[in-house]
Amino acid sequence: MSNSKPSVLIAGAGPTGLVLALWLTKIGIRVRIIDKTTGPGTTSRALAVHARTLEYYRQMGLADEVINLGLRFPKVHLWVDHRPKAELSIGEIGVGVSPYPFVLIFPQDQHEELLLAHLKKLGVEVERQTELLSFTQSEAGVRATLRRPSGASEECTVSYLAGCDGARSVVREQLGTGFQGSTYPGMFYVADIVGEGAVLNGDLHASLDKSDFLAIFPMKDKGHARLIGAVRTEEVGNKSLTWEDINPHMTKVMDIRVKEVRWFSTYHVHHRVASHFQKGRVFLLGDAGHIHSPVGGQGMNTGIGDAINLAWKLGEVLKGKCSTRTLESYETERIAFARELVESTDRAFHLISSRGTLARFIRMRLAPIAIPTALHFDFVKRFVFRTISQTAISYRHSGFNEGEAGELHAGDRLPWISSVDNFAPLKTMTWQVHVYGATKALGVVAAGVDTHLYEWNEEMATKLLQKGAAYLIRPDGYIGMISADGDVDEIRRYLISR
Ligand SMILES: Cc1cc2nc3c(=O)[nH]c(=O)nc-3n(C[C@H](O)[C@H](O)[C@H](O)COP(=O)(O)OP(=O)(O)OC[C@H]3O[C@@H](n4cnc5c(N)ncnc54)[C@H](O)[C@@H]3O)c2cc1C
Repeated sequence: MSNSKPSVLIAGAGPTGLVLALWLTKIGIRVRIIDKTTGPGTTSRALAVHARTLEYYRQMGLADEVINLGLRFPKVHLWVDHRPKAELSIGEIGVGVSPYPFVLIFPQDQHEELLLAHLKKLGVEVERQTELLSFTQSEAGVRATLRRPSGASEECTVSYLAGCDGARSVVREQLGTGFQGSTYPGMFYVADIVGEGAVLNGDLHASLDKSDFLAIFPMKDKGHARLIGAVRTEEVGNKSLTWEDINPHMTKVMDIRVKEVRWFSTYHVHHRVASHFQKGRVFLLGDAGHIHSPVGGQGMNTGIGDAINLAWKLGEVLKGKCSTRTLESYETERIAFARELVESTDRAFHLISSRGTLARFIRMRLAPIAIPTALHFDFVKRFVFRTISQTAISYRHSGFNEGEAGELHAGDRLPWISSVDNFAPLKTMTWQVHVYGATKALGVVAAGVDTHLYEWNEEMATKLLQKGAAYLIRPDGYIGMISADGDVDEIRRYLISR
């Protein structure tokens, strides 16, 4: 690691900050990453790691390790009236869409440890007990005031500040972006337990009962599980929630006998989005910019997506390869998805937790029949997987991307072609051109961009690629530009204009 001054200060070493630090370091940008705590969290929150995150991790050389440490569960069971009413086979629900067609369980505490270890291997250590207190910015850079472990303050100047400092973000507060939305009534809890009963069979179990929301996630070792649930304010009142309040409710709705509670924690859930993710040289990412209900396990995965989107753009700008306008597309691309996500997780949360007659009918009577039936259809499976796995995210609207060929537009994620594994070259984390079924774009090599030519096959047509078109792929695996007739000059012009 060089001794040069860091270019980016990352405030917060949760999953978002750690992934940002890793990508930037891997592409040769010097970072400084600080966190006010003494160490990573131990009471884990996020459990689900989705396919899009694993695709990014493959680019960064982390995917195999994460998959080996995590758990792929084959089924979801829906419970009503203390009985399993429906069984959904989701083990390989996304076959053909992604090299990772499943949902992986990998607890956030272990996940953070893994990211920290990789960062350390690259020579970067999180500076603990170091808190961002305030900052000012000018055209030249950002000046941040930090509190060091000794209590002394330090002034730090960098080119950019990344606010990855979670839901109570100081960066957001100082940017004055607001955090519009509200807080769900009631109390949420997570418990780490060891027990027995039908729900401890290595699958995910969720209660659709008339009472409160409860989901039981399998863990790798037998008999071990994480419970995530909610209890209404009317039931708890103002007193703090304890395991003793939860246990009787749980045994009423599912077949479970808890023998040991390793830890239990409670929290409030909000759904909010900041009005901006960028002001000048300062950015908001992850929970600092958006928070939502844990339904669908999207929060951490979205923070990681923010980190990747910003990381390569910062890299290009700091290396002088792209104009600073490139950074503006970070907010455009990510805030749209964050708003959509807050709305959809809010709707889903209301449906699974509402006591209204209609919601109860849908949940307890309709869902156990309709969901398994619908999942027999491949197009429904694909739709569900693409939504939950975040592989359906598209940046068509951003203005940064240009062109289309058939149904595929610039801004879409590059479709995965299993027969040739066209995601393998994305490991370089750089711009590249893909041409499927023609040799015309060879000249792009001269423009300093790697070109990958693939012989045409039928799978490419089913994935909406067009024979002979040239696709300029961004470092994050999204299509930056499409030249429908494989015109090298169009691609060169696009690259120069950026
Ligand atoms: C019960 C539960 C279950 C969940 N399940 C899932 C799931 O299955 N999948 C999923 O994707 N998401 C899930 N989430 C959401 C997920 O946990 C969060 O979205 C994720 O932790 C956000 O990561 P982050 O790095 O943005 O923020 P955080 O994890 O909050 O990290 C922020 C860091 O910044 C530090 N910090 C704060 N202020 C400062 C400062 N001024 N100076 C220095 N450091 C500072 C903090 O100490 C902290 O380490 C769940 C959440 C809950 C509560």
